[in-house]
Amino acid sequence: MKITYYGTRGSCPCSSDQYRRYGGNTSCVLVEVDGEPPLILDLGTGLRALGDALDRPLRATGVPLEATALLTHLHYDHILGLPFFSPLRVPGAVLDVYGPAQEQGSLHDVLAGAVQPPFFPIHMGEFRGELRFHDIAIGDPAELRFGSIAVTARPIPHRGHTLGFRVEADGRSMAYLPDHQAPADRRTVDEGVLALCDGVDLVVHDAQYTDDEFVTMSDWGHSTVAYAVHVAVEAGAKRLALFHHDPSHSDREIDRLLVRARRLAAPGRLGSVTAASERATVDLGRT
Ligand SMILES: [Zn+2]
Ligand SMILES: [Zn+2]
Repeated sequence: MKITYYGTRGSCPCSSDQYRRYGGNTSCVLVEVDGEPPLILDLGTGLRALGDALDRPLRATGVPLEATALLTHLHYDHILGLPFFSPLRVPGAVLDVYGPAQEQGSLHDVLAGAVQPPFFPIHMGEFRGELRFHDIAIGDPAELRFGSIAVTARPIPHRGHTLGFRVEADGRSMAYLPDHQAPADRRTVDEGVLALCDGVDLVVHDAQYTDDEFVTMSDWGHSTVAYAVHVAVEAGAKRLALFHHDPSHSDREIDRLLVRARRLAAPGRLGSVTAASERATVDLGRT
């Protein structure tokens, strides 16, 4: 199983020299498993570049895209790439999107409301490729299977209906929790979160705030770097990738946060801690 980050930023895309290394695009991660169509985690602005990367081999073979996307929730930073995903401009392309059911209507109808004039020049239904939506009821864990890939979806604490995902294939596993509200005590860990992250080879986890920032933004829906380490250690995960970097954090600030995270993880069971950076690939191999 191979994981490539196309967007690692939280909340709002950003661009300048100070974001060069970790990147300024919002949540979008590609999971590649041999013999299976691409699995995409979230549709943030990183999806535009992922579309270009997928387009090249598709054009060479003349075969339209067939892919699956898992959507954690519908905040802008997780959907803004959708209208800019170039493989959907090709007739015959299919993207199956699985995401949390919404109170306001079906996943299709809610997203169609965001991708239409006056927010975007055309309606979502005018894409030449086909978008197929699959609502995941908020409640019990949902077990999904895509060929040899097994996915578990569970509700996790954030603002609004939000899912976390556990992906298993090739005898490897990863958990994806880009937006996760840390509790006030920053010690207890939600049962569902522990289940998603239990013993995984890699946790990609919300690490938006410093401890100081959390004091004033404790109910904005996110975790601290220290809480991300705590969740990974409590769940017995092997590796942690800090993710959903705050747009106010420069590369140098993230470097400092990474040093602190590694120090916190050192006495625990975590094999390694990294800060996710755009276009970096983590090869989890196979057993
Ligand atoms: Zn987010
Ligand atoms: Zn969010």
